[in-house]
Amino acid sequence: MLINSLFTDAFHLFYPHYCTGCGSDLLAKDSLLCINCINELPHTHFARYENNYIENIFRGRMHVEAAYSQFYFSKGKLVQHLIHQLKYKANKEIGFYLGQIMGESLISAGRFLNLDYLIPLPLYADKEFKRGYNQATIICNGIHASTQIPTLSNNIIRLRATETQTRKHRSARWQNVDGSFAVTDPAPLIGKNILLVDDVITTGASLEACGQTILQVAGTSLSIAALAHATK
Ligand SMILES: [Zn+2]
Repeated sequence: MLINSLFTDAFHLFYPHYCTGCGSDLLAKDSLLCINCINELPHTHFARYENNYIENIFRGRMHVEAAYSQFYFSKGKLVQHLIHQLKYKANKEIGFYLGQIMGESLISAGRFLNLDYLIPLPLYADKEFKRGYNQATIICNGIHASTQIPTLSNNIIRLRATETQTRKHRSARWQNVDGSFAVTDPAPLIGKNILLVDDVITTGASLEACGQTILQVAGTSLSIAALAHATK
């Protein structure tokens, strides 16, 4: 243990790295955030409570079993900075780390039961191609690490609003009304309890459109998890 920590300190001496949140020097090589930033993370604790702010967003619009966001999102604050790192600086590690925290909340809440699959909210294909990854998939990877719930990434696609249902996606039978999402392979979803995952929730419109599409598959139930929520 001592030897291990000596190595860690020696490694750190030669390869110092900095807190993703505030840029201050770190002591442990496995840490992404310093203790101050960890303490500053604005947890909502919504996972534990029925009728929380996120569940109320969907009330009357779509049936969800349970929903939560992990953090409050404020402009110019820590969580916005971390999500910016995840989305625009290819910092997948921070997304994975925050996803792990989301997974721990899911487990301790005791309300998100019998989930079969995590589904990351799909990006437009060209957007994902340019970024090289879907940030929601990275978050799912972190949730999986805490919960062991598997991720399904390739069963739903996001369509350009300009694409008409019949012309471009004749094969996609399961489309929601506005046609912005389609289930390409419904079989694995039949009868399953799905947790739909996104980075930031604002109006919930995209999650609703995707969720409605999932709910068209026979016997599915839907829950929702967002890393953060921003009030309008
Ligand atoms: Zn920090």
